[in-house]
Amino acid sequence: MASVGVVLSERLARYGFGDGHPFGPDRLAAFVREFAARSLGARVTAIEPRTASEAELRSFHTPEYLDFVRERSASGTGFLDAGDTPAFKGVYEAAAGVVGATLAAMEAVMEQRCRRAFVPIAGLHHAARGRAAGFCVFNDCGVAIEQLKSRGLSRIAYVDIDAHHGDGVFYAFEEDAAVVFADLHEDGRYLYPGTGSAAESGRGAAVGMKLNVPLPPGADDEAFALVWPRVMAHLTKYDPQFIILQCGADSIDGDPITHLRLSPGSHGRAARELAELAEASGHGRVLALGGGGYNRDNLAHAWTAVVESLLH
Ligand SMILES: [Zn+2]
Repeated sequence: MASVGVVLSERLARYGFGDGHPFGPDRLAAFVREFAARSLGARVTAIEPRTASEAELRSFHTPEYLDFVRERSASGTGFLDAGDTPAFKGVYEAAAGVVGATLAAMEAVMEQRCRRAFVPIAGLHHAARGRAAGFCVFNDCGVAIEQLKSRGLSRIAYVDIDAHHGDGVFYAFEEDAAVVFADLHEDGRYLYPGTGSAAESGRGAAVGMKLNVPLPPGADDEAFALVWPRVMAHLTKYDPQFIILQCGADSIDGDPITHLRLSPGSHGRAARELAELAEASGHGRVLALGGGGYNRDNLAHAWTAVVESLLH
């Protein structure tokens, strides 16, 4: 059995946009309840989160954007983007806490305190270097990739099975040959953010290194099974030194804001096969980040399925 680290701290629940919002603070509790019901606590190592420093946030985000979030965080009013992502008092600290949780888990894997790790609530893949988007204030995936690069890694895989395209990660690293990217998502003609066509495959030094696979509304486990081998083949070609999985649960049947129909079994399969690939490479490093998911039962089942797969 592999050693798996999980961040369970209540601090993650500070990142939420109020009761009644799809991204409400109750998402963490929904995961923790199912995690306890499956008796996973005794099988994993708890990772204590920390707050990301300004320097770490600046490795991905622009200083101007950090100043803007700090101002809105103090006033607690208005939006951080055109209307999806409301400001609240302390949003800067809450978002920096999510990034810190992802970095703490990344460090635990890199320093071999655990073989693999999972962080719920994290995986805020829409935030761009200079702006918030789609419930995402700071892009913990992007900061983690920058930090892995600064540790000397030159082939980092980012895999995304959230219903929405991981545009914040994709465009930030579109020309970066250190980032192997693979993203299954609902076709942008039907769902926010509208990007991620199959033709978007990387630019400059990274031509061909980015795989975008749009799925039609209603795509189920069978559709997933048809395209998932393409993701594995794409990653295998580049032999990544570290694998990040954004396992958003909004691609599961019954999500209130998307139209995909996967089951948690697809999420479990993705985590299992990525762990096997990492083992085949000799390092074993997989960091799974919860991502979206607005049906509480779905996120609880998908994320615990991912943890169970990482344990094997
Ligand atoms: Zn999503």
